Amino acid sequence: MSILTRILIRQRCSLGRLGFLRPISANQIKIYNSLTESVEPLCKNVINGSDMPVITWYSCGPTVYDDIHLGHASCYIRQDCIRRVIERFQEKPVVYALGVTDVDDKIIKRAMYLGKKEKEVATIYESQFFGALEQLNVRPPDVIIRVSDNIPKIINFIQSLIDKQHAYVSKSGNVFFDVQSYPGAGKFDPILKSKLGKENRKRFAERSPTKFHPEKKNRSDFALWKAKIDEEVSWPAPWGEGRPGWHIECSSFCDVITSGHPHLTIHSGGVDLKFPHHNNELCQSEAYYCTDNWVGHFIHIGSLVTSDTGEKMSKSLGNFISVEDYLTNHGTSDELRISCLRRDYKSSLAYSRDDLSHSRIFLKEVAEALAVCENSLKAPTVEYADSFYKIVEDCSRKFETALCSDFNFPSALDVLSDFCSQLRLQRNLRLSDAAVSRQFLLSSMDTLGIQLSSERSMAANEKALLAELNRFRSAVRDIALGKNLQNNGTKLSKVELKEIAARNSDFLDECDRVRSYVKSLSLRNYSDE
Ligand SMILES: [Zn+2]
Repeated sequence: MSILTRILIRQRCSLGRLGFLRPISANQIKIYNSLTESVEPLCKNVINGSDMPVITWYSCGPTVYDDIHLGHASCYIRQDCIRRVIERFQEKPVVYALGVTDVDDKIIKRAMYLGKKEKEVATIYESQFFGALEQLNVRPPDVIIRVSDNIPKIINFIQSLIDKQHAYVSKSGNVFFDVQSYPGAGKFDPILKSKLGKENRKRFAERSPTKFHPEKKNRSDFALWKAKIDEEVSWPAPWGEGRPGWHIECSSFCDVITSGHPHLTIHSGGVDLKFPHHNNELCQSEAYYCTDNWVGHFIHIGSLVTSDTGEKMSKSLGNFISVEDYLTNHGTSDELRISCLRRDYKSSLAYSRDDLSHSRIFLKEVAEALAVCENSLKAPTVEYADSFYKIVEDCSRKFETALCSDFNFPSALDVLSDFCSQLRLQRNLRLSDAAVSRQFLLSSMDTLGIQLSSERSMAANEKALLAELNRFRSAVRDIALGKNLQNNGTKLSKVELKEIAARNSDFLDECDRVRSYVKSLSLRNYSDE
C-alpha cells in the first residue's frame, strides 16, 4: 500500500468519525460495532493529536439486589473471553471498568422487604456477584464504579446538561433530559432508525417508550434525577433532594474512566440494554461533550434463553438457575464457558443439559490430546516422521484469525477440536512436536479462560476429600457399633453389641447426618459403598 493511499485512508477515517482513526494494519482485531452495524478494525482513540496509550472500556454492570443467575453470568463470561482476546492480540493495556448500580428502586424495595438499609443490601449482593464470577473464572474489572460513591460527579454532569439547555427541572424537583433539544438522539431507537421513523422523526420522538410522566415536555424525555419520595435514600442537589436516574450513572462513570476525554474506545452490555438504556446514555453523553461519536465500538452481548421456551433467563420470569445451584448440581465453570463460546457472542444462547454434555466431550478431547503430548514428552519417538510442527503452526494461525475476526469463538473451538483429533491419532510424537503442541493447547485454553489443569486437579481433590470423609464416617461407625473390638478378636454377644450401640447412639446419628448431607449435594465423585 502506497504512502499516499495510507494518508487518504487516514483522512477519510478521521473525517468520517472525528476523534477516532481507523488502523490500517491487516492483522488488527476486528469488532462488530452495533452503532454502525458493521465489522470494523479496533479503532484508535485520539487525544491531543496522538493515540491514547490505553484502551478505555466501560461495561454496564449489575443492579445489586438479588442472587446472580446464569443469565447474568453468561454475559460476563462472554465479555471476559472478548477481553482476554483483546489483551492477548494487541499491545495496549486495557482499562476495563464495570458500573455497579447500588441505588435503585429494586434495591429500595428489597431493603424494605428485608428490613435492612439500602447500602447494606447492595454490599451483600455486590460481594456475592463478584464471588460467583470468580468461581466462573471471570477476571475482576480493573475499576469498579458505584453510584453511591459518585453522587457529586453525577450532579455536576446533570448541571452541565441543564446549563447547555439539554435538560430541565420540573415543578416537583425532577430533572428530565430534553430529547427535542438534541438532534442526534435515538441512535439505538428501533423506530427512529426505521425508514418510517426517519421520515417522521418529530412524531416518533414524541411517543413514549416508558410510562408517561405528566411533568415531561416530550413523551420520550427521560429522568436524570428523581425527586425524593417519602423516606427513601436521597442526596441534596441544587434543584432539590433526590437520587440519580438510571441512565445518567453510566454516562458519568465513563467520564471518570476517560478523565473528561470525550471518547471512550469500547462500551459493552447485554443486548437488552440497547434500548432505551444505551440509547439514552449516548444521547446525554454526546450532548454533554458536544460530539457525535462518543463511543468507538458498542458491543452487545446476546441473552441466555431457556432451551424449551426460548425465553430470556430472568428473575422476573422466574425461569433462572442461580450460579450456586449450577455449580453444585449442573456442571463446572469450564463446561459453562465452553457452552458460551460455542455460540456467536452476539446471539442468544440456549441453556440446556445437552449442550453441557457437548462441552464435557470437548474438554475430554482436549484432556486426551494433552495426555498424548505429556506421554510423548516422557517417551518421545526417535524414529524419523513428518514433523507435527506444521500442523501446530497452521492451527495456531487459524485460531488467531478466528478470534481476531470479531471474536469468532465457535470457529476457534472448531480449530482446537480438529487439532485435538489429529493429536489423538498420534501414538507418540517427537520431543519438539510434543512440546510445541502442548504449549499451543495450554495457551489457547488460557486465552479462552478455560482452567483445564485446575479443573482436573479440583476433580481429583474432590474425589480424594470425599474418599477420606467416607473412610472417617465408616471408622467412627465401626467404633460406635463395637465392630472394631470384634475385628481385634474380642468376642461380644448380641446383647453386648446392642448395649454398645445404644451407648453410642449420638455418634451413629451424626454419621447418618453426614451421609444424608453429602448425598443431598449430588456430587459426581461421591459413592457411599
Ligand atoms: Zn449502563
